[in-house]
Amino acid sequence: MAESRQIPVAGNFRKRKENASEISFSDFSNPWTFYALFSRDDLTVATWLIEQGLLGRSRPCERADCDGDMRLARRSGRPLGYTLRCNRSRDHEVSIMKYSFFERSKLDVRDIMQLIKTYLEGLSLGMTSRYAGVSYTGTAVDWGSFIRELMKEYFHVRLSQKKMSGIVEIDESLFGRRVKFHRGDPNKGLKVWVFGMVERSTNSLILYPVKDRTADTLIPLIERHVEKGSTIYSDGFSAYFHLNDMGYRHFTVIHKYSFKKTYKNAETGDIEVVHTNRIEGAWKHAKDYFRKMSGTKASQWEGHMAEVSKYN
Ligand SMILES: [Zn+2]
Repeated sequence: MAESRQIPVAGNFRKRKENASEISFSDFSNPWTFYALFSRDDLTVATWLIEQGLLGRSRPCERADCDGDMRLARRSGRPLGYTLRCNRSRDHEVSIMKYSFFERSKLDVRDIMQLIKTYLEGLSLGMTSRYAGVSYTGTAVDWGSFIRELMKEYFHVRLSQKKMSGIVEIDESLFGRRVKFHRGDPNKGLKVWVFGMVERSTNSLILYPVKDRTADTLIPLIERHVEKGSTIYSDGFSAYFHLNDMGYRHFTVIHKYSFKKTYKNAETGDIEVVHTNRIEGAWKHAKDYFRKMSGTKASQWEGHMAEVSKYN
């Protein structure tokens, strides 16, 4: 009789299962890590949320006549089985959710985290509500807009003051979605110009949806984000015509090969050959991202610009 066929070892799953207690809960790119964390006991989940700064471990007592400290204490029936209790009096107590991101929601923290994860991965709100087991019309819609607001804020705080230097590639690209069941004008789909800047040394990326591609629109964005004295590579688009007069070393593309571009400084005539095209990689990444995204979300540009930008 023939030797029985070997069953392949389920390497990753077995390893994960055996080492479940050693999982680092910092990288959630693999969903398994996420579920391994949020299916564990309350203490593990609470500790993780505290470590991430999403929940507080202690705070001064809220009572006007008390100078005690409120600390984390076990209390069954409370969210995650914990409460914040004063060291002076057992009666002085507040929910660990108070003042937190989760404060106003009646949902279990695990459902909220599931909801956020699914939504940020680009799934529709319908899928999101199903995964988290919450109602679509009330809960998921509210959380969807809450998350978008936060992403917008994050974008403004993190990216709006960012300065690039060294070599910076700039480009514009038309983003659009094919509308499956469009009625009337087929050109009416969601189409928008996006202006992008990539800093070579860090590979960081800033994207802006722009209303048009005029110098009046694009130049202020370059001045906001690119230090004077930097080298800028762009296509030959006329909006960038005056960058050399504005304190930049500006090179425009004169020839396109499959793996490199040759740029010429319009003022000095200097030629520079560029072997990588970071901005084109960035466009591909961003377009793949938007293609996967549902229509309603794609219309929320600012928040998603931040999301795309964090890939680098
Ligand atoms: Zn107190």
